[in-house]
Amino acid sequence: MNFPSKLIEDAVTEISRLPGIGKKTALRLALHLLKQNEVVTEALALSLTRMRDEIRYCKHCHNISDQEECSICKSHRRDRAIICVVEDIRDVLAIENTNQYQGLYHVLGGVISPIQGIGPEELKIETLLDRISQGEVSEIILALSATMEGDTTSFYLCKRMKESGVKVSTIARGIPVGGELEFTDEVTLGRSILTRINYAQD
Ligand SMILES: [Zn+2]
Repeated sequence: MNFPSKLIEDAVTEISRLPGIGKKTALRLALHLLKQNEVVTEALALSLTRMRDEIRYCKHCHNISDQEECSICKSHRRDRAIICVVEDIRDVLAIENTNQYQGLYHVLGGVISPIQGIGPEELKIETLLDRISQGEVSEIILALSATMEGDTTSFYLCKRMKESGVKVSTIARGIPVGGELEFTDEVTLGRSILTRINYAQD
């Protein structure tokens, strides 16, 4: 792509570094910003710089936070006996959006992946074990991806937590709501049968 201006070219290069944004979209965004009032671009640049400089991670659960302790860990309305272990911050947001969970979280910062060179020591596992050893926690919910890496991580964590005697559960994996059996892949269907639950009638 040839640009009539080096300034535009630089802006397009930077914007196109973002995930899912190609050069064409980057150019459209750059031209859009150029048409806006100065205040708009200043606010955008400032918010990005501040986010990068000032963002913090909760000292307990490693969730993103503006302070040392995140709003979930600080809240008195959360059940401190349950910790849901997730891969990253997006999972916290996804579970929070369901409004179905009242416990705390622990963000691992990834999953064990020998192929990508990610071992247990790269993840926030020791701090999880520390939290469990403090004795307030009675249940750990493993909410990791249904992938080989997710399963490996769950298995590893389970082994490390065994001595503590804490109850370990994992989120159910099965047929999506509204899903029809014949269109469900066989691994999911097979697992749904193996991890069947009691049929409760209200
Ligand atoms: Zn926290």
